[in-house]
Amino acid sequence: MIAHDGMYIDGGWRPAAGTDTIEVVNPADEQVIGTVPAGTAADVDAAVRAARAALPGWSATPPARRAEHLIALRDALAARADEIAATVTAELGSPAGFARRVHTGLPIAVAGSYAELAATYPFEERLGNSTVLHVPVGVVGAITPWNYPLHQIVAKVAPALAAGCTLVLKPAEDTPLTAQLFAECVHAAGLPAGVFNLVTGLGPVAGQALAEHPGVDLVSFTGSTAVGKRIGAIAGGAVKRVALELGGKSANVILPGADLEKAVAANVADVCRNTGQSCNALTRTLVHEDRYEEAVALAAAAVAAYVPGDPADPEVRMGPVINARQHARVRDYIAKGVAEGARLVAGGAEAPEGREKGYFVRPTVFADVTPEMTIAREEIFGPVLTFIKYTDEDEAAHLANDTVYGLGGAVWAADEATAVAFARRMDTGQVDINGGGFNLLAPFGGHKQSGVGREMGPHGLAEYLHTKSLQF
Ligand code: NAD
Repeated sequence: MIAHDGMYIDGGWRPAAGTDTIEVVNPADEQVIGTVPAGTAADVDAAVRAARAALPGWSATPPARRAEHLIALRDALAARADEIAATVTAELGSPAGFARRVHTGLPIAVAGSYAELAATYPFEERLGNSTVLHVPVGVVGAITPWNYPLHQIVAKVAPALAAGCTLVLKPAEDTPLTAQLFAECVHAAGLPAGVFNLVTGLGPVAGQALAEHPGVDLVSFTGSTAVGKRIGAIAGGAVKRVALELGGKSANVILPGADLEKAVAANVADVCRNTGQSCNALTRTLVHEDRYEEAVALAAAAVAAYVPGDPADPEVRMGPVINARQHARVRDYIAKGVAEGARLVAGGAEAPEGREKGYFVRPTVFADVTPEMTIAREEIFGPVLTFIKYTDEDEAAHLANDTVYGLGGAVWAADEATAVAFARRMDTGQVDINGGGFNLLAPFGGHKQSGVGREMGPHGLAEYLHTKSLQF
């Protein structure tokens, strides 16, 4: 596994300003697999200066040429896809197949989609006697989490580059090796020096220095709502643009007449995917009282197929959670669910059989969950499903929206029109209709405390653009 001891700044690997380092741990066996430098404000400053110096040239590069660079980046990622997938498996603990298909395949597709958008986006429009120019915001400070390490990076870097912005990336401290591999791909793709820069480091040190740096015009952050609020305050105080992709507590609403088996199977797969570490995971299942026990029994049976195990083994469908802190946190939530009176029907807080080493948790299903319980309100970020009962559609709509979050959601009904009518009542950025799948052109982002701004597709590109109108 590659581990650079420097920062990727101004087109090359530069020595870090300080001597502190971060150990990268494989969550499946708790072994150290690499060491990267812990960046300081001085590293951030050098990176921001490089990004600023590269801005005039890159922002003036015609969009069609920027698109060619993005194609080169996509191809560079594709050329090292196996290595990226193995790195994600080692530092995140993702099962090998999912690491290759989603953690690697999705960002490659996103880079390709932004190459197309760079070439076709209407960067100029005519409105009456005005020409409106859509111009790059400037230097972007990107701060990303570990849960989809490469996707979260590409979901910011690709639209920023397409828009004509330059960047400094501060990736999550748990998954910096994937970020270093990404920087190598940027280099191999031949992007001009300074257009993309990488500073590894701790959030409160390097991340905060990046958010606060006066040379950063836009802070794009994905992570917890708690840190997102701080970033929002910093950016707001300095009148910087800000985009925040935060947490969620998304509802899966199963209406009477829906295909219950399909709805529950999809729900279990969704919450066990990535060991529950997806911001839009459908962690609250709302089921009509008439079919509630049937749904709970289906879920309890379905989670048995997700036996936690070594993510490098191709047969394994669920790996560990990311680190010791999350491991303790998820098990504390499970214990809290029991203590607050929820009925544990599968899983539990104790270690899965034979998995005493590594940060493994049992896929867990709770029934008799009431809306005021902690497990129904707070984001757990682990494979924990909570089943909540409703008596009519109005109550279901109230329960679905009874959260500070508003990221994802799903509705299952006998027909599409009924599902869509319910989806219109949900206060969230996305709703999947009868199992509808991910679309990389659709805007992704939250209402309420799930965030500000959108990623993916043309709406994601627009985040990195200012308007400037010329009157004639
Ligand atoms: P986090 O918010 O602590 O970290 C996300 C990123 O922000 C990392 O790069 C981190 O280094 C950086 N950061 C941390 N503190 C910072 C600060 N003061 N200033 C600037 N940057 C800072 O999230 P986490 O520890 O990775 O996970 C904790 C919780 O966040 C999870 O349990 C989950 O609830 C949520 N989460 C949500 C998403 C999402 O996609 N919405 C992703 C990961 C985590």
